[in-house]
Amino acid sequence: MPSQTEVPQPMLVSACLLGLATRYDGGHCRLDGLWELAARGLIVPICPEVAGGLPTPRPPAECQGGDGAAVLDGRAAVRTCHGDDVTAAFLAGARAALEAARALGIRRALLKEYSPSCGSRWIYDGSFRSRLVPGQGVTAALLRRHGIEVLSEEEWEK
Ligand code: SF4
Repeated sequence: MPSQTEVPQPMLVSACLLGLATRYDGGHCRLDGLWELAARGLIVPICPEVAGGLPTPRPPAECQGGDGAAVLDGRAAVRTCHGDDVTAAFLAGARAALEAARALGIRRALLKEYSPSCGSRWIYDGSFRSRLVPGQGVTAALLRRHGIEVLSEEEWEK
């Protein structure tokens, strides 16, 4: 029997993890370990918040009343530290990420932990007091609902 060669599959990756300055504060969270995969064409970067139409820099935002899954169900909202409701932009960005994954046949995403869009295990609690709670961001929740595996950079580095 000939041995089967596993073909590496591309991943959707939070743009800020690749060094793109898409964070709310105009910064990034570059992971140098991703560059080899990027050079091989195995990474598709996306920033859901920018894809949803938000500018950079922008006021920090947090899920309030529940996590990203609750936002998808209409039971929670995403608001900035000034109280502005940015739920529609977060939903639009999540849908853009899902559309990109579907169009390219992507089954796995590596997303930045703690973000109200990209967090996959922990997000901030909505108080803007740097308090983390278990939960996922809006994009992570939507991707998972459609069968896409979501990992955080912390899990990936292990
Ligand atoms: Fe990074 Fe996601 Fe925040 Fe965009 S929305 S800056 S990709 S964590």
